[in-house]
Amino acid sequence: MSEVFKGNFTQQEPIPEEAIAAAVDVMRSGRLHRYNTGPGEAGEVALLEEEFAAWAGARYCLAVASGGYALATALRAVGVGPGDRVLTNAFTLAPVPGAIAGLGAVPVFVGVTESLVIDLDDLAAKAGEGDVLMLSHMRGHICDMEALMALCDARGVTVIEDCAHTMGARWNGVLSGRHGAIGCYSTQTYKHMNSGEGGLLVTDDADIAARAILLSGSYMLYQRHRAAPGPEAFDRVKYDTPNVSGRMDNLRAAILRTQLRDLDARCARWNARYRVVEEGLRETPGLTLVARPAAESYVMSSFQFLLLDWPDTAITDVVSRCAGRGVELKWFGAPQPSGFTSRYDSWRYAPSEPMPASDRVLKGILDLRLPLTFSEDDCAQIARIIRAEVSSVYQAA
Ligand SMILES: *Cc1c(COP(=O)(O)O)cnc(C)c1O
Repeated sequence: MSEVFKGNFTQQEPIPEEAIAAAVDVMRSGRLHRYNTGPGEAGEVALLEEEFAAWAGARYCLAVASGGYALATALRAVGVGPGDRVLTNAFTLAPVPGAIAGLGAVPVFVGVTESLVIDLDDLAAKAGEGDVLMLSHMRGHICDMEALMALCDARGVTVIEDCAHTMGARWNGVLSGRHGAIGCYSTQTYKHMNSGEGGLLVTDDADIAARAILLSGSYMLYQRHRAAPGPEAFDRVKYDTPNVSGRMDNLRAAILRTQLRDLDARCARWNARYRVVEEGLRETPGLTLVARPAAESYVMSSFQFLLLDWPDTAITDVVSRCAGRGVELKWFGAPQPSGFTSRYDSWRYAPSEPMPASDRVLKGILDLRLPLTFSEDDCAQIARIIRAEVSSVYQAA
């Protein structure tokens, strides 16, 4: 009998008891709105912002309602408006082009390499088409950030980093989100901290921070923020910045503060799982692993591999055989996106020139989640199942 995996790929760990207690305290107080604070009380959101700024080594931090909201706020805060062209990854998740298109701006997609990072040659070719790059570290893969920043600085392109999958990751020792002008994070359930929905934005730029805080809906109560610039920064922009409400509330912040303290340990646990799968899949015939450069300290809460140049029918065969043995693979290359969209040609509201080299990569990407509810033994079993099914389909072809 061939083994079958019994775990659930979308089951995260429970919220820690300490976080639950903090949430109950907020509910007992009745003061859930971030600006509804008692005498001498900072409020959970302001404290989270202060703690996240310290963790990131950033001067300013704003907590908001979602990762997608953080991205849109970042774009607005650097002055992107209707009709502006914004460079972004051809391989990312729908909220990224959605944040751009939601402002009436126009995504210009930049290709993806076999390492699953933005293609710097394509970026160099397209850099003249937009003043802003929304760089998505999709699925935790980080490009050569020194090369990217040198290119963007030379061409006058402002970089906003989408760190939905790189909270805690580093390039050459620098935290992801701290190379560009703004770093944006998601605290949605499937990311590295879980508040159901939520987002964080960090920057060292006082004007960007002031605009982002006003945009998020601060009702001129910005002086209550603890990871914010001084009043002079707000005086410069407060009459010209619309309120686009998208605040975080004290309940979510309360459960995130506890999780932040434990983040580094959780990142290490994800990576241990990732390395077990990586070892288990090494030298599987027909399967390409994604090489990880030495400069990259990743945090991998999911795993990707490539079945490059495989016919569609063989890939669907692998996906269905693995599913039959309890291993859920997502195929980003499927002709019809299902349950998610991650490929530039799925976003028909943002048409693009075809990119054949990227299409070849995108067509071959398979993806699986590695929630912390899986043990390392579970991960070894998952790798055995994938290895067996990929090998037998490959040999039959
Ligand atoms: C999850 C995600 C976001 C933000 O998503 P929200 O659901 O709005 O928090 C942004 N970019 C990528 C790549 C993501 O996976």
